[in-house]
Amino acid sequence: MKNKAKYYITTPIYYVNDKPHIGHAYTTIVADVLARHYRQKLGKDNVYFLTGTDEHGAKIADSAAKLNIDPQTFTDQISSQFKIAWAQLDISYDQFIRTTDSKHKKIVQDILVKLKSTKTPLNNDCLYQADYEGLYCVGCEKFILESELVDGLCPDHKVAPQKLAEKNWFFKLADYLPIITEKIKKDELVIFPENRKKEVLGLLEKQNLPDFSISRSRVSVPWGIDLPWDDTQKAYVWVDALSNYLSALDYPAGDNFKKFWPADCQLLALDILKFHAIYWPAILLSLDLPLPKTLNIHGFFTIDGQKMSKTIGNVVNPNDLVAIYGAEATKYLILSQFAFGAESDIRVEDFPAKYNADLVNGLGNLVSRVTNMVEQYLDGQVAFDHENLVLVNEVKAKIEALDFRGALLKIWQTIQNSNALIDTTKPWVKAKSEDTKDKEELKKDLSLMTANLYNIALALASFMPQASQAILDILQAEKIKKPEVGLFQRLEK
Ligand SMILES: [Zn+2]
Repeated sequence: MKNKAKYYITTPIYYVNDKPHIGHAYTTIVADVLARHYRQKLGKDNVYFLTGTDEHGAKIADSAAKLNIDPQTFTDQISSQFKIAWAQLDISYDQFIRTTDSKHKKIVQDILVKLKSTKTPLNNDCLYQADYEGLYCVGCEKFILESELVDGLCPDHKVAPQKLAEKNWFFKLADYLPIITEKIKKDELVIFPENRKKEVLGLLEKQNLPDFSISRSRVSVPWGIDLPWDDTQKAYVWVDALSNYLSALDYPAGDNFKKFWPADCQLLALDILKFHAIYWPAILLSLDLPLPKTLNIHGFFTIDGQKMSKTIGNVVNPNDLVAIYGAEATKYLILSQFAFGAESDIRVEDFPAKYNADLVNGLGNLVSRVTNMVEQYLDGQVAFDHENLVLVNEVKAKIEALDFRGALLKIWQTIQNSNALIDTTKPWVKAKSEDTKDKEELKKDLSLMTANLYNIALALASFMPQASQAILDILQAEKIKKPEVGLFQRLEK
């Protein structure tokens, strides 16, 4: 069958100059929820979820040198920390790609060779050689403009940039900009949310975007992929990094490539918007490939009202959260903080109270109460409606609209209502009554409560697969029994 529904979702590959933090975790958790949702919808084999690490560049070579180890050993160490963090969070990726994988390096070289023989829509060479002269900051790993300096220093790294002049290879970006503008305007390439689309169109309309270099001399970037036709040069950032979305699928001949390209959803944070919304489409157009369907951009967030920084010491390690709350509660606590795409704040300070309120007292308590009453009053047996899936369908629609916070709010509203329903209907009073009308009502009440719980469990499947399955197992057993251990353990003070 042609055009069978499929879903290819990617996170950016994370740069290994740093250990995983809550920002990386946020993007990856979002991807995980979407991947799990679409696996349910389209079948496991029709979803491909890619994440990984970006491992080349002068900054990596520098960091390794400082530790007196070779860059490969350094990237092995940091990359494995990302893998550990994602295992801790129960992230269901299909592939973890590393740009130091030999397969990736070979495909990047093939892509570069292809670009070199390509003509742009205006019949220029796609790649050309030119002098590049400028001020280079090793920390930023880029040339920076005189006007960006503060007191002669890089504002981010507080060091004076080095003067560098070298012959590099450049990508003729300008020739692709009108096509990219058109495709974004027509939503052939959807950029979400809308304000980011406007931002990209604003950049494109200025029409002074410089061509970007695809290589650097071995001297300025010693750690990278060799440029196949010029041994003075190494591939520079963007073709190397962005091509991971293709190399992971074994571009150009792999079965996965034929099945899954173009990407359906590429997730990224704001800082790499320009590269994904402008450079990446240009590279794809030059390779004569379709563009991704959507780029979904999330904003930056602060931690307890402050910018996350090593100096302040408020960098949140996802492993620390998992150690306290477990994987599923951590995902809930992070995703319920703010709407996708918004620039906002994560209240880590409030996590303990929120965990106790929403998970222990909210969901956990509801499961205990309902199953306990069905067990005690109805000998574990209750017929309930399996067909009314209003909540489930609402939640699924919100997930597809990337409204994860809205989906969770909806579920927790139902949890609250269900707990309130127990308090108002007082099944324990009816259970003591000898009146048959009370007995009938008790059955009806517990049936409704069980149906609600069933809906809640199904609605949680993409967010908290283990809790969801645990609840379903209880409800689908021959006799419903209150679980011996609560779903969520109260935090010890
Ligand atoms: Zn810098």
